[in-house]
Amino acid sequence: MYKNKFASKYTTNQFEHSAAELVKQFHAKKSSPEEYLVDLFENIDRLNPELNALTSVQKDYAFAQAKKLTSYSNPSSLPLYGVPIVIKENIQKVGFPLECASKILKGYKGQFNATAIENLEKAGAILIGTANMDEFAMGSANEHSAHGSVKNPHDTSRVSGGSSGGSAVTCAAGFAPITLGSDTGGSVRQPAGYCGIYGLKPTYGRVSRYGLVAFGSSLDQISPFARCVEDLNLVMGVLGKEDSKDATSLKGQYSSYPDQYSLRGKKVGVLRSILSDGVDKNVMQEFLNLESELQKKGVEFIDVEIPSLEYTLSVYYLIACAEASSNLSRFDGIRFGHRAKNTDDLFDLYCKTRAEGFGKEVKRRIMLGTFALSAGFYDAFYGKAQAVRELMTKQFNELFKKVDYIYLPTSPNSAFQFGITAFDPIKEYLFDVFTIPANLVGIPGISVPARVQQGELPVGLQFLAPLGKDAELVAFAAELEKENLIGLTKLI
Ligand code: GLN
Repeated sequence: MYKNKFASKYTTNQFEHSAAELVKQFHAKKSSPEEYLVDLFENIDRLNPELNALTSVQKDYAFAQAKKLTSYSNPSSLPLYGVPIVIKENIQKVGFPLECASKILKGYKGQFNATAIENLEKAGAILIGTANMDEFAMGSANEHSAHGSVKNPHDTSRVSGGSSGGSAVTCAAGFAPITLGSDTGGSVRQPAGYCGIYGLKPTYGRVSRYGLVAFGSSLDQISPFARCVEDLNLVMGVLGKEDSKDATSLKGQYSSYPDQYSLRGKKVGVLRSILSDGVDKNVMQEFLNLESELQKKGVEFIDVEIPSLEYTLSVYYLIACAEASSNLSRFDGIRFGHRAKNTDDLFDLYCKTRAEGFGKEVKRRIMLGTFALSAGFYDAFYGKAQAVRELMTKQFNELFKKVDYIYLPTSPNSAFQFGITAFDPIKEYLFDVFTIPANLVGIPGISVPARVQQGELPVGLQFLAPLGKDAELVAFAAELEKENLIGLTKLI
């Protein structure tokens, strides 16, 4: 049992509505989006200062949008009518902060709307604010942020997970039923697991990246959080569309999950050998519990192997750092945000601006990435990592000929105390070992909350599906939720 300092202040359940319920309520005119926002903002003002999940609350904008919606002639055609949504601070929305939790972008605001934002607003969603994150989405604890750390609402002495910790906590604490993060190596699934909610990383290219500040372009994916599977399905229907502005966007669109879906006869692969060490006892217990419950429902579990997974972390940290070093070269003090003062010449200005503006973790990655890409080393590092990535993709494809899904914990642990990884970046990197493969291979992955005992820390469990099978993956999770085998970890 842990002590929950935050939840005692959480006296109301009026903000636990799902997005789907809210839309119904607003369509039936039982309440209006505007009325809802008044109470919601009061709750946020009361609770956010302690959690530090939101970096801006856009009240004027939200009320103006709510007013606009009320005068809309055909509200029932809008699938997210009046639903408040929060976005990670690395997604462009005109006029909203786009600081990526970095000093180098202090005061910088969105200049255009990301395609994901356009799609949300066209569907009637109301954007109410921006969420805290690890600087430029690098981290697993949300402790690398120029805005300070984000606290886990289940236990405020623990981290939220990262890098989309702010978005996860916003959703878990009831500030918005749906929030957006970005997942490059697990940054949505991992904090979803730590905060007891759902997080889906769609197939690479299923959601447009246009307007997302790039970290590792071949891995990044805008990804949603929600407190129930129905909401994930709802928002994916809105976000999962082809976009001519993103060259890597997938053709077609997310097809809503089928109404008829049976667990019986589904085949699930378990990568048993990589679970042998390093997984905490409570996580392993939940993992095995769900496995045995699913067996009772007729799901067949098969032990499988993907030999190349041994190289997961080395491949990821090479590719992600290499791409980051190139993507972040645009922050030079000339075009965006912070500019150092009293500099001798242009070179000095670049150096001082970047030295002052970037945090420690970002600098570490830029240096690693620049080294890996430098002349003479390219083939030995980046080229090799790409070759292993290709091999991994082949091995996953082979495996998916035999199984429908792959089952793994989301992380080897539950939310940990602040400061544990502060002086040990490698320790932090190790927490991503189960989430990274989906990004390297491009396949969809979902983190679902295990049904932990009341008062226990949340535990995330993860399922992966073949490329493009996002709706099937969501349907599978919906069935588990319906059977009560998984579900939101409530704040007690
Ligand atoms: N924790 C991983 C990293 O630091 C993943 C980050 C992410 O998915 N944005 O790179």
